[in-house]
Amino acid sequence: MTHFAFPPPAPPTVPVEGSDAVFPVRRILCVGRNYAAHRREMGGDDRDPPFFFAKPADAVVVLTAPGKVPYPPATHDLHHEIELVVALKSGGANIAVEAAMDHVFGYAAGVDLTRRDLQAAAKAKGQPWDAAKGFDASAPITAIRPIDQASVDGAIRLSVNGQERQLGQIADMIWTIPEVIAEASKLWTLMAGDLIFTGTPEGVAAIGRGDTVTGEVEGVGQLIFTVV
Ligand code: MN
Repeated sequence: MTHFAFPPPAPPTVPVEGSDAVFPVRRILCVGRNYAAHRREMGGDDRDPPFFFAKPADAVVVLTAPGKVPYPPATHDLHHEIELVVALKSGGANIAVEAAMDHVFGYAAGVDLTRRDLQAAAKAKGQPWDAAKGFDASAPITAIRPIDQASVDGAIRLSVNGQERQLGQIADMIWTIPEVIAEASKLWTLMAGDLIFTGTPEGVAAIGRGDTVTGEVEGVGQLIFTVV
């Protein structure tokens, strides 16, 4: 029996809708710039290939009811990015696009919180994005809806204090869900428990303490949180 030097932390989990089971989060991968209009607003080119970054598994903040998310330290420009999240029940390396959906457990709606000022500084210096993207509580998320109960062909939207900031269509994703899975599996061996944030439509903007954010992926779920 393994003797840990200290008690290991429990794995981060996300509830599964309609079940007592919880989804154990192994890893969080995120796609950058997967909607054309957002790619342009961030200064990119529609022909760029997809790229990925990561957040730690324990960045998830489960919001099955209106809740709170802390304003992170070391930023004056915290941005919201509403995203469809794909939850994997299995994985592998070099997954074919045609086989990719076999690995999907379900979907959630998530917000890829971003310290935009730190991201801009990292971009300018050619430094990594970890501090901009992978900070504590940077991944608010709904419960996971099993794939047979979800539909992912509707709108994706986010409002702040009741005012709409982001509105897009899942169909506007440059790289589709199976393509994102296939592309990620060229870089990493995907496994059960992996979450993939699939990118955000245009309209990203700053939020501050006291703001209430409502994010929704139609057919998947809605989350509401106040920044504190
Ligand atoms: Mn994002």
